[in-house]
Amino acid sequence: MADSGKSVFLTGIMGSGKSTIGQLVAEKTNRTFIDADTVIEKWAGKSIPAIFAEDGEEHFRKLEQEVLRSLSSARSAIIALGGGALENGDTRVLLEEKGHMVWLRVNPGIAAARLSNATERPLLDDANSVQDKSRELREILQARKKNYEMAGCVIDTDSEEPAAIAKKIRDNFSISNAPVDNLWKIGQETESPYPVYIDYNVLGYIGDLCAGREYSGKAVIITDANVAELYHKQVSRSLENAGFEVVSEILKAGEEMKSLNVLEGLYIQLSEIGLDRRSPVIALGGGVIGDLAGFFAASFLRGVPLIHIPTSLLSQVDSSIGGKVGINLPTGKNLVGNFYNPDFVLADLNVLYSLPPREWNTGLGEVIKYGFIGKPQILELIAKDKSELVANLPKVVRECVAYKLEITTKDFTEGNIRRYLNFGHTLGHALEKVTDYKILNHGEAVYWGTIGALYLSVQSGHLPEETFFFGIDIMREMALKIPDFDLEPHVIHEALFFDKKRIRDTIHWVLLEGLGSPLIETNINDSMIYDAINFANDFVSKLSEEK
Ligand code: NAD
Ligand code: MG
Repeated sequence: MADSGKSVFLTGIMGSGKSTIGQLVAEKTNRTFIDADTVIEKWAGKSIPAIFAEDGEEHFRKLEQEVLRSLSSARSAIIALGGGALENGDTRVLLEEKGHMVWLRVNPGIAAARLSNATERPLLDDANSVQDKSRELREILQARKKNYEMAGCVIDTDSEEPAAIAKKIRDNFSISNAPVDNLWKIGQETESPYPVYIDYNVLGYIGDLCAGREYSGKAVIITDANVAELYHKQVSRSLENAGFEVVSEILKAGEEMKSLNVLEGLYIQLSEIGLDRRSPVIALGGGVIGDLAGFFAASFLRGVPLIHIPTSLLSQVDSSIGGKVGINLPTGKNLVGNFYNPDFVLADLNVLYSLPPREWNTGLGEVIKYGFIGKPQILELIAKDKSELVANLPKVVRECVAYKLEITTKDFTEGNIRRYLNFGHTLGHALEKVTDYKILNHGEAVYWGTIGALYLSVQSGHLPEETFFFGIDIMREMALKIPDFDLEPHVIHEALFFDKKRIRDTIHWVLLEGLGSPLIETNINDSMIYDAINFANDFVSKLSEEK
């Protein structure tokens, strides 16, 4: 049976084994496994019991609906649902349409015994003994049964081992895994020094892809806690199954990890376990992990093999490509680093659906940039709204990566054309800096900076007016929500000026003379810059009024 692209959703009361069985189905078939409850915790930044306690069940259910709407766009993934996920009619209809629903049926008494040590189950808070839990689970089952019964596939889990149940699910939906050669890949044709795999469900191929290279037996995964909870197990199991001994460094999430202290900790811990120069380092995470683990790989033992598994939109379309790696100093961002290419990049599109909503914006800022400076067709793939981006995700990510690969292969160390990648960033960086990197995220600042750069392009006489208006219309259609920042233009102007001193007194503005035709302009006067800042400010404040 050809792959329909449908995901498998596992449902059932707590204790029915959804996560364990889901992992097992995924592992044998190289599907991406996503646990919906874990995603909810990542989006909320706290555990489910904390959400219940602090925000209430209603809030939890709302967040759950949002998460499931996002996850429903995944393709051919294995997704474990929370026990109450189907109680909302709209969500149930959506999931039934997008996937195969499997009810893992379990006797409440057996589920209660399996949960005898569980503490993280808010709905069972008052139940202490197995008998109490069993009684409560029976009530929960009674209330939800009619929704579970609508599942197209029902599997009894009382007396069978998880592995046997996982096999039943695979057999039932004829789920098998594609050979490695079938994964979508870009590389040789662009003369890129390394291939980039971009497809749904590629996470589980990391073991095979590493086994095909001349690596030694120990592999290191560097990741952050958010990503680890969702995807570490899949990556490490795949490596183990391919014969690697896996060592994992799970760091806290956040920009602060790109520091000398954290780097030193990695050097020390990983030198103690005896890595050698052919031990691969796998950066599993967003741009923070990619930059940090990348710099580690570039410098440890004078260089060990690096593999990027980018998991945020920004890291898939931008930071995992082009070889820049590095860390921050207290005096500024990315001040220590190098250019160091990975052996390959493995981008799984399914993992993007667990990304918190605002993290999409940060990637979008870069996506727009590629559209304006290099590939106008990208703008058409994303202009309307996020649902359009989601529908066109493979094309969008592949086009962006192809463009960045091309530019950075021709100009690795940013001598000339690589500078074009700063379109929208000169103003954007200034705004990020004066808002202390707190109010706006990178993509939101770049979105704002792009408006300013379009304005400067037309005012400096490079860009025809009609192209300017076309660009502005696209920005309006995209309508990114920009948080309010109340700043006088001169504050932003000063921040630009500070940067200006660092690059020898001249700002190299990246402007446009047409869609897909960037140029560098150094001759822009102060009053034009003020006008551009005012124009961008008016634009975003009008946008927020319109909403
Ligand atoms: P990030 O790495 O902090 O990731 C953003 C957040 O999303 C984190 O909390 C992370 O835990 C979480 N996350 C990541 N993937 C997830 C997933 N699939 N599901 C759920 N949560 C997930 O930030 P980022 O925006 O990816 O990267 C920003 C960094 O990238 C900055 O440090 C920047 O300097 C760097 N950067 C580097 C380059 C380069 O060329 N090297 C280019 C652009 C940016
Ligand atoms: Mg950027």
